[in-house]
Amino acid sequence: MIIVLKPGATQAEIDHVIEKIQAAGCTPHLSRGVERTIIGAIGDETAIRNLPLEILPGVDQVLPIMKPYKLVSREFKPESSVIGAGGVLLGGRRLHVMAGPCAVESREMLIGIARQVKAAGATVLRGGAFKPRTSPYAFQGLEAEGVRFLADARRETGLLVATELMDPRDLELLASSADFIQIGTRNMQNFRLLKEVGGVRNPVILKRGLAATIKDLLLSAEYIVANGNPNVILCERGIRTFEDYTRNTLDIAAVPAIKQLSHLPVIVDPSHAGGRRDLVRPLSLAALAAGADGLMIEVHHNPEEALSDGPQSLRPDGFAALMDELRRLAAFLGREL
Ligand code: PEP
Ligand code: MN
Repeated sequence: MIIVLKPGATQAEIDHVIEKIQAAGCTPHLSRGVERTIIGAIGDETAIRNLPLEILPGVDQVLPIMKPYKLVSREFKPESSVIGAGGVLLGGRRLHVMAGPCAVESREMLIGIARQVKAAGATVLRGGAFKPRTSPYAFQGLEAEGVRFLADARRETGLLVATELMDPRDLELLASSADFIQIGTRNMQNFRLLKEVGGVRNPVILKRGLAATIKDLLLSAEYIVANGNPNVILCERGIRTFEDYTRNTLDIAAVPAIKQLSHLPVIVDPSHAGGRRDLVRPLSLAALAAGADGLMIEVHHNPEEALSDGPQSLRPDGFAALMDELRRLAAFLGREL
């Protein structure tokens, strides 16, 4: 249920509504928009329906949220959310590109790539320390040591860092050393993990599952927000279809569709979507044209020798050339990069 407050509702009136919702055993979620303040009441539908909310002072309207996901829906919050860390905010006019290697392989390689992607205009360094690999015999990541190298790269370059969390046991480490916490495709429906990241404040980059619908993705985002962390960025990274010429199929329509359904920022990962270096440029351009708020791109100084995802990784010079092109497209789209 959403409770829309009258313009100019006082803090005492807002607090009173919140107390009533809590007394009914439900959880209030406050959203202060430019034009109006809205309170989402989440919990037992019957308990909420029985509350005489309409007659409380300061209340304008009480409306059911028809979608299965509530807090992440545009019905709950009509204005787009601007979410991020430090100065890197996604969902506004400014676009952001997160770039870096698939996996952190060493301190030197990471800092070298970080310097190059920063010079080209990236604002976030990506790099996996805990890697979800299909084969148990493939490189699994440097784990805690890799997280330390990310923190070093952050200190050396000033870039913010994004890295994947696979296990709640590593949450404390990542929450204190990484700016953005990535929940990977394979864990999009690991509901315990989603609840855990609901308990921190770091923005969470939630990647769409291999066979997840848009609704599934939004319900997974709802898990994080309902558990206390409103800072979620959705990432379209391609889904499994019958087409096997590309690694995955980039669902470009998902970008404007999600932006209609949800107030959360949406980014696109063209690297995992296409799985091929030559597809990164066209998919990146398509993503921005479709309304994405940013991109996540894999870059490696020597893709032939990369320990994971070399075939889809751009070389630093290719990344810099792409950034120049993206900047021109951003200007055309009325956005900044
Ligand atoms: C990644 O970003 O390194 C990754 C493993 O991506 P995904 O979860 O989209 O496969
Ligand atoms: Mn990868």
